[in-house]
Amino acid sequence: DALLAGARARENQALRLLIGSATVTILVGLAMALYARRVLRPLGLVTRRAEAVAHGDLTAHEPIDASDEIGELSKTFEGMVGAIAQANAELLTAERLATIGKMAAQITHEVRNPLSSLALNVDLLEEQVGSDAEARALVAAIKGEVDRLTELSERYLSVARRSRPQLEDEDIVELTRGALATLQPELTRQRVELKFSAPKELRCWVDEGQIRQVIINLVRNAREALGPDGKIEVTISAQDADGVELWIDDNGAGIDSSAREHLFEPFFTTKKHGTGLGLAITREIVEAHRGRIRCEPRPSGGTRFVIQLPVKPA
Ligand code: ADP
Repeated sequence: DALLAGARARENQALRLLIGSATVTILVGLAMALYARRVLRPLGLVTRRAEAVAHGDLTAHEPIDASDEIGELSKTFEGMVGAIAQANAELLTAERLATIGKMAAQITHEVRNPLSSLALNVDLLEEQVGSDAEARALVAAIKGEVDRLTELSERYLSVARRSRPQLEDEDIVELTRGALATLQPELTRQRVELKFSAPKELRCWVDEGQIRQVIINLVRNAREALGPDGKIEVTISAQDADGVELWIDDNGAGIDSSAREHLFEPFFTTKKHGTGLGLAITREIVEAHRGRIRCEPRPSGGTRFVIQLPVKPA
């Protein structure tokens, strides 16, 4: 009996031990499963995001908020997606501009000759109509339209003629002053006040003709955004030993944030007779110089375009 009781007691003890260790094993298993789930869930999110990107979804997402390696991986991955999206957009713009260039070269070639003979004939007609006020007004209207078409074809042609910038050591202050002098008559006609602030001289490696076109495009846009008695301020400053910054400020109505997103896209225009090519070409030129351009609201109302250009050649 004593031996049997001892054996039963040991058996019970062994059973308790077994139940205890089984419970501990299950609890450890559960804890491990929960831990693995917590650790692997962000990895699952990153994997799903990678699959979506592989299927072409390049929309911007917030990276996973974690301070471990997976958070780091997600941040790097989202950065990479952003870079791909930007490269895609730039490629699309470049392709569009190249197509416009080809079309423009052909169409402009066809249209230019008839346009110049039209202009010539209208001049002759103007001499013929003499003092008849109504006929003179009609001739003036035709002349205006011919001039507009000529200017339009010139704009398209400037897209076709775009070439790599031929960088030379130029004084950007003198270059800008020259471009502004060209614009002065149209600014005076509209009673727009122009202020130019710059150091005495700032040497830069730029393509004179192309940077001149950039300044003319931006100041002309600013003028078109202003009524009479508006103000335009052009400022040049040396940022550091490597870069200069050019600001073109106006005190016009400004640009709303939704339009600002599309400003540099080819064909985006809010003007009745706009081509929507000016800013697209401007950005292309600035980026071909390894520079940057951005548009921001001016603190005291109106618009500011900022161009950053490197001082040294690539
Ligand atoms: P376009 O002048 O033919 O419209 P752009 O590419 O030069 O083409 O300009 C695109 C649009 O950007 C304009 O239609 C205008 O709405 C806006 N924009 C550009 N510059 C300014 C400015 N300084 N102030 C307000 N709007 C501007």
